[in-house]
Amino acid sequence: MTKKEAFSIQDLVRKNVRSLQPYSSARDEYSKTGGNMVFMDANENPFNTLVNRYPDPQQRSLKQRIAERKGVAVEQVFLGNGSDEVLDLLYRAFCEPSQDNVITLPPTYGMYKVLGGINDVEIKEVLLLPDFQPDVERILEAQTTGSKLLFICSPNNPTGNILSAEKIHTLLQKFKGLVVIDEAYADFSKNPSWIDQIANYPNLVVTQTFSKALGMAGIRLGVCYASSEIISVLNRIKPPYNVNELTQQFATERFAQLDRMQQELKTILEQRQRLVEALVPVSFIAEVYPSDANFLLIRVDDARKRYQQLLQKGIVVRNRSTQPLCENTLRITVGTPEENELLIQTLNDLIV
Ligand SMILES: *Cc1c(COP(=O)(O)O)cnc(C)c1O
Repeated sequence: MTKKEAFSIQDLVRKNVRSLQPYSSARDEYSKTGGNMVFMDANENPFNTLVNRYPDPQQRSLKQRIAERKGVAVEQVFLGNGSDEVLDLLYRAFCEPSQDNVITLPPTYGMYKVLGGINDVEIKEVLLLPDFQPDVERILEAQTTGSKLLFICSPNNPTGNILSAEKIHTLLQKFKGLVVIDEAYADFSKNPSWIDQIANYPNLVVTQTFSKALGMAGIRLGVCYASSEIISVLNRIKPPYNVNELTQQFATERFAQLDRMQQELKTILEQRQRLVEALVPVSFIAEVYPSDANFLLIRVDDARKRYQQLLQKGIVVRNRSTQPLCENTLRITVGTPEENELLIQTLNDLIV
């Protein structure tokens, strides 16, 4: 879909959301950082504990930093309690329960389907091709007038690969609903982020997270980038204080330590390569799939058996065998150098 074509976000938005009046919180009206005001508006405990006040519902200072770093406008950024919340809000904003549908491309991230179940929205699954790339023709055939969202995970979880940019461009042009590109693992890839394309595609939504490369899974912070029109729809339906004060402060502070994060990222990428080289020769590993993420998908002789054996040695990996195209596969997250060494030793000791 190009800018020139008539494309109305409002037409995609659920009817009840179009006319919704968002909750106006006390902190929407007056920010607590507003000078020497006395705040008697929100029934908070007045004694300072650093967290006695409600957090900024619009997360202004954190968003400002993120927007600057990514080269987008603040109005093109939405923050969620993890990107899982962002995905849920997309369903709630755009999908009419028991009427609309979304398209997913298995094998892929399991939450898209779980959220479809929670929100009573039909999931149309169009399997990836054997090379783990999207089947563009079949995706477009599966599309109906009720297809509101298309989830594209790139790099894809659990397969680890980047999805073809050319194919994604075609889908962005031809899919009539929103195309959500989940970039949870983008920092591990050299490929450019789709954030750069937001100005070109009014139906593009990109999600990223602080949980993987940035090392902050525990604070629950996800980011959504899209046109200001799409972002304003999400702002209307979000829980008022969805990103808590500790998370906002911690994430803002960690921006000052980007060097350390860069070093961690470099180590993880080196370790990923080291794992590939060590796993390929293991006799019961049939395939180590190329990865643009911080994990490797491997195909083994007997995934259940190997999973249990690793577990007995105290190593927890993920058996992905129930996913289509993933028979006898395990997904292994890149660990610290010591953890990876232990994994390599353990796998080599298992050879029987
Ligand atoms: C881990 C993961 C997420 C979840 O991110 P949170 O921000 O921690 O909720 C989203 N998408 C994919 C593909 C993931 O692997």
